[in-house]
Amino acid sequence: MPFVWNEIVKFGQIFGNRNLGSKVNLTNKMLFSFPGYNEILTGKADDSSINSNDKIPNPNETVLEQYAKNYNPIKVAAFASWDVFDYIINEERSKVYTSCGFEPSSDFPLSSDERLLNQLQKQISSPWGTVRLDGFTHQFAKAYINKHKPNLIFISYGETDDFAHDGDYESYLKSTKNTDALIKDLWEFCQGNSYYKDKTTFIITTDHGRGTNPTDSWKSHGKEVTGSDETWLIIFGKGVKAKGEVSNNNQIYNNQIAPLIRKLMNLPQKFGSDYGKPISLE
Ligand SMILES: [Zn+2]
Repeated sequence: MPFVWNEIVKFGQIFGNRNLGSKVNLTNKMLFSFPGYNEILTGKADDSSINSNDKIPNPNETVLEQYAKNYNPIKVAAFASWDVFDYIINEERSKVYTSCGFEPSSDFPLSSDERLLNQLQKQISSPWGTVRLDGFTHQFAKAYINKHKPNLIFISYGETDDFAHDGDYESYLKSTKNTDALIKDLWEFCQGNSYYKDKTTFIITTDHGRGTNPTDSWKSHGKEVTGSDETWLIIFGKGVKAKGEVSNNNQIYNNQIAPLIRKLMNLPQKFGSDYGKPISLE
């Protein structure tokens, strides 16, 4: 991951190297995707209603929905490779434009990029039935950024998880490297665009870990795989001090990400003992 380890490490903050005493953990006990993304996007685990990956509209309000309500729905959007995100973000109720799975862009009038992507997405097949290749998610997101200049955007890449579930280590590594390049591409795009330059904060994390058993835990996750609650977080851009890898008894939780986003976007915090506190960028 050359962008992370040669560049971000110099101007951002990287949490989760447990050998250095930096820990990031989930607070939900499910340790798979829908509960993880719900925790990240709402700031609170909800094991009683979010305990499967079924396509059930999320009863909880994400920061994206909160942004759409408090500001302008056009200025927030979500792009994801996995087709369950219409439900995680509750597109119907939230009014947040959510492009996921194999959905063609329906953001009419379509730009020429979107028309081409809609065709290519039908012509280049994905190895999976519910997850598209990350290049499509990335390019649909960029097309939306070019068109609407959103102030808050959520992008969920999915390839690494699925190649790992397949036990395909070579593709897992290639797609990890590709994800690093996609993040670099987005960052360079922002820094080359006057609307975003020096005004954009990137927050990158994962919905679950996969443990550290070298023989086979990389393939899976969940309650039965020890360490699936161990995650990581990378943050850089506006307002983030250069610290590199964080060390020294640092513990943060994935439920602190939504509170940080509320703080950065001037959204009201939600109160209650289960909500995390915003991660400090100092
Ligand atoms: Zn998985």
